[in-house]
Amino acid sequence: MKWYQMPENDVLHALQVDKHDGLSEQEVKKRLRTYGGNKLEEKERPSALFVFFGQFKDFMVLVLLAATLISGLLGEYIDALTIMVIVLLNGILGFVQERKAEKSLDALKELSAPQMTVLREGRWVKVLSTQVVPGDLVKLTSGDRIGADLRLLETSGLRIEESSLTGESVPVYKMEQVLVPSNVEIADQSNMAFMGTLVTQGSGVGVIVATGMKTEMGKIAHLLQETTTLVTPLQRRLEQLGKILIAVALVLTALVVLIGVVQGHALYTMILAGVSLAVAAIPEGLPAIVTVALALGVQRMIKRKAIVRKLPAVETLGCASVICSDKTGTLTQNKMTVTHLWVGGAAWEVTGGGYEPEGTFFKHGKQADPQQSRRLQQLLSYGWLCNNATLELRTEKQGLLRRQKQEYVLDGDPTEGALVVAAMKAGYDQEELSQHFSREKEFPFDSTRKMMSVIVKGRNGRRYVITKGAPDVILTQCRSLVYGTAEEPLTPARKNEVGQVVNQMAAQALRTIAIAYRPLDREEDCRQAFEAERGLIFIGLQGMIDPPRPEVKEAIMECRQAGIKTVMITGDHKGTAAAIAGQLGILTAGGKVLDGATLSKWSVAELEQVVDDVAVYARVSPEHKLKIVKALQARGHIVAMTGDGVNDAPAIKAANIGIAMGITGTDVAKEASSLILSDDNFATIKAAIKEGRNIYENIRKFIRYMMASNVGEILVMLFAMMLGMPLPLVAIQILWINLVTDGLPAMALGMDQAEGDVMKRPPRSPTEGVFARGLTWKILSRGFMIGVVTLVAFSLTLEAHPDELIRAQTVAFVTLVMAQLIHVFDCRSEYSIYHRNLFENRYLVGAVLISTLLMLAVIYYPPLQVIFHTVALTEREWLLVLAMASIPTVVLGGLQFMKRSKAASK
Ligand code: ATP
Repeated sequence: MKWYQMPENDVLHALQVDKHDGLSEQEVKKRLRTYGGNKLEEKERPSALFVFFGQFKDFMVLVLLAATLISGLLGEYIDALTIMVIVLLNGILGFVQERKAEKSLDALKELSAPQMTVLREGRWVKVLSTQVVPGDLVKLTSGDRIGADLRLLETSGLRIEESSLTGESVPVYKMEQVLVPSNVEIADQSNMAFMGTLVTQGSGVGVIVATGMKTEMGKIAHLLQETTTLVTPLQRRLEQLGKILIAVALVLTALVVLIGVVQGHALYTMILAGVSLAVAAIPEGLPAIVTVALALGVQRMIKRKAIVRKLPAVETLGCASVICSDKTGTLTQNKMTVTHLWVGGAAWEVTGGGYEPEGTFFKHGKQADPQQSRRLQQLLSYGWLCNNATLELRTEKQGLLRRQKQEYVLDGDPTEGALVVAAMKAGYDQEELSQHFSREKEFPFDSTRKMMSVIVKGRNGRRYVITKGAPDVILTQCRSLVYGTAEEPLTPARKNEVGQVVNQMAAQALRTIAIAYRPLDREEDCRQAFEAERGLIFIGLQGMIDPPRPEVKEAIMECRQAGIKTVMITGDHKGTAAAIAGQLGILTAGGKVLDGATLSKWSVAELEQVVDDVAVYARVSPEHKLKIVKALQARGHIVAMTGDGVNDAPAIKAANIGIAMGITGTDVAKEASSLILSDDNFATIKAAIKEGRNIYENIRKFIRYMMASNVGEILVMLFAMMLGMPLPLVAIQILWINLVTDGLPAMALGMDQAEGDVMKRPPRSPTEGVFARGLTWKILSRGFMIGVVTLVAFSLTLEAHPDELIRAQTVAFVTLVMAQLIHVFDCRSEYSIYHRNLFENRYLVGAVLISTLLMLAVIYYPPLQVIFHTVALTEREWLLVLAMASIPTVVLGGLQFMKRSKAASK
């Protein structure tokens, strides 16, 4: 018998699971051992050894190895050996970097791994999809990506999109009824749900019948081994640039060799020097360091609760000019408490905060007993019946003394939780209610309908529809209302009255929920929501506060200073939205509030005309979000858009930076996103943008450092050859500089802190090149200066000691190294070395110290002196070195700084 042919009991029996308790943890462990984790087999990764050897396939490294061979053949064993060691070290460094980048990207994948809600030991818990086993009972809600093959046991308007399996993109309805035939195609197995498919509507419960490679998806898994590209636009551009730079470096190097030979230098020396120079000057490691910098930045973002799903987003974040944010839970705390009620023409208030079900009721300002008002009772109890939230009193031991602390914890939607708490404050309890009413059917809430309904059966056998939702929507479905003690037709005057109450509540930033009902005829069967939600009797309103998150106001202000506009998009009432937007500083003078009804009428082009002035979009449906993104993009904005539901996915995808909520977000929204907020908090978006800007700046910093260093290295050799001087640096010194002096500090620059004003600059244009804002000039001028001072130090020493070339070369070597190590601090600022605290970046200080110490070892430790062709320097020579090395950065930077200060004070 196939699973879809078996009745529920047989299925549960075959899988040895109890429907009310699910599996025990012990049983799960046992089954995990038997069936293995719920994973599809992945393609094998390249081994560590493969990655390691990959480091040596670089063209220049091969040339270098060839040069080593030549040295070896010519009997220059020390040279040959040293070059080998340096090549090896270079390889190890590249290997470590690549592994590190890979690891942090893996960690990312794990963080955004899908989860499933399963029943374990009588409780619904969220577990990683990899940890589920056959027999687990699974709850499905709209937006879930199903993680295993299930036999469905309960469904409520459940629709699943199975295109990944069947190719059919229209979602199919699912039901729990047994199918009789034995050869039903997958596409027609209406009581089964399969791994990899998507719940687009409704909800359900199923039991897992297959996991991992045993699932239908597992059977075709080899078709799905897609690889995602992780290359960012910047990386791509740098790779292209790298090719140009290689050409330039090769030409210049060839020039150095040619002139050197013409000037009478030995061919072997010149070739070796030339090859070393080419190796040093070609920034072959640049893309790797960029990846590392991106990966490190991504790790910092994780610490700040922002999980990057697509690496290119890191770059785009720095360009964001508009953030469109959901209200509930992102700008606000999503901790709702009912404070105001309106029923039968009377206004009530109730005290208390949070989920603690204790509070006092006031009617028209006077304390009153809620049990005395039948209407209020109806409002509160119906609010609880049309509801899926549960409140649980949990006891936790806290602190050193392990003192017991009791706390009410909400499981479910906070809006519904608030209704539960309000009813409990009036003395209701769950058991009592469920004795009076049993639920027959549910039409789940969705943000397009903005309503939710249940059909319940009373003890007397009568059935009712109870609907709750946005008041304006509910009112259109009502024919009458309870007023005073009687039921009245819903006249325009009464509608107006209710509308005014809603507006008053909204002006106090309250979220409003209306509750209505209707007795059903004996035979009446509502199969779809619209059949139930009509001809209703309006009962009343509950207004709840949802306080803004305390850190959001400041974050919005910071964004504004950074040239980023924040826009609120919410399904909530216009008044509520405007009130909260006002409190948060989103809606300021001149800002417009637009509602969903208007958006529906307008085309993208019409919206484009006003989009820059709109600060709040209220009562929108998720479908409107796409229009907003398009209109903003048409105005040239780089848009970050948040979302959590299934219907948000298209807008999230279309936005330049799609952001999904980590806690409340559905799998569909997460999959469409490039960034996930693990705390759902707006302030995290700001932190991520700041980090994104910083990462980009850091990349610019080390490009600037490495390239200026390379320019210096090439120029000193080129000038010396042109002036007919001896070689200022020997091959091995050049290789050393490339490895130690260039490599370490550049990596430390990749971890640099943000400059004070990163969030005071306007967003970067996405078309801006890496070398924009004067970077080329900075690289060329500083590189030129570094080359010149090295040459001056070299020739002065040579003049003083004409027969001690090795001394002059040592001076040149140390000058070049020191000039670079000083220049690295200059690269930390867009302005000058004087604009930042030198010791702020501990990694950089460490890297510079290590580089300096290693350099001292090279010139003072006799065995290394032999290898690197150096001698110990005198004090006078050190003075010369330091004076020369500081000219490019300290002196020129100082002059620039003075000029800037003068200009500023004018
Ligand atoms: P956002 O999260 O985008 O800021 P929102 O959460 O306020 O928006 P929705 O959840 O779409 O927007 O809610 C829209 C309206 O639907 C609310 O103002 C409320 O009146 C009503 N509503 C919200 N949740 C429920 C629910 N669980 N049942 C019935 N009605 C609801």
